[in-house]
Formats: sequence, structure tokens, C-alpha cells
Amino acid sequence: MSARVATALPSDRITITADSTTEPFWLAAKERRLVAAQCGDCGHFRLPPTAYCPQCQSTAVDWPELSGRAVVYSFAVVHGFPGLPDATLVPAVVDLPDAPGARLVTNVVGVLPEDVRIGMELVVDFHPINDGWLLPVFRVAGDEES
Ligand SMILES: [Zn+2]
Repeated sequence: MSARVATALPSDRITITADSTTEPFWLAAKERRLVAAQCGDCGHFRLPPTAYCPQCQSTAVDWPELSGRAVVYSFAVVHGFPGLPDATLVPAVVDLPDAPGARLVTNVVGVLPEDVRIGMELVVDFHPINDGWLLPVFRVAGDEES
């Protein structure tokens, strides 16, 4: 794959810190499932997960599994990363159609940066990172096998 195609950072460059509020997200990702925190009282989705619902202050939380579909809300193109001068990264903020109001900060991978568009449809994939966790990243929808 060409160095110009957007990738995620190498596994050993990414370490997550999970706490009791965020751990369900990461445990699901480890099973290749994308979930979002949803208020158990008012139904408000929130990402990143927080201990209290910002709408109603409830601590009740459900973790519905999402389809894995996403839409590019905003993105950047990064050429080179400390120690990885040839890396091309496309950090993005994506909307999750199954979790209205929730947005995820992620990376779009497997695509030429100039082909990424606001509103582009994506599907989730999972990238191995440190300590056996999997990081949700996104590929262009319909292009999952490439
Ligand atoms: Zn709520």
C-alpha cells in the first residue's frame, strides 16, 4: 500500500487509558463492536462517555451496539508524524447515524486523503493497539475489502 494512503498509527504508538466510565466502549471494541453511551433516562447519546448525562444529569447508562456506519463531519490531513515522516493520517470527527448527537474522533484509513469528503459514508474497522485493545477506525463504505 502506498505511503500516501491514510493509515492509523502503528500499534505500538497508541495506548488507551480506560476507566469505569469509558471501559465498556473499549471492551466492546475489543469484540469488534462499536457502541455508544446512551442515557438510561432521557436517551441522549454521549461520546466520549461521561459519568453523568449532560442533558439530565442521570448516571443511568446503556451501551447499545451501533451498525458501525458513520459520516465524515470534519477531517484533517496530516503528513508525517514524529518518528514517522512518511505516514499520512486523516484524523476525523464523524457523525454516527445510529447515535444522533454523538460524534467520534477517529481516523479514516485506507483512502487517499484527497478523496476524503465531508459527508462521505464510512464503516468501522478495528485497528490493534497496545495491550491487546482494538481502536475503532473507519474505512470508506463499500470499500471494506481493500
Ligand atoms: Zn439523560
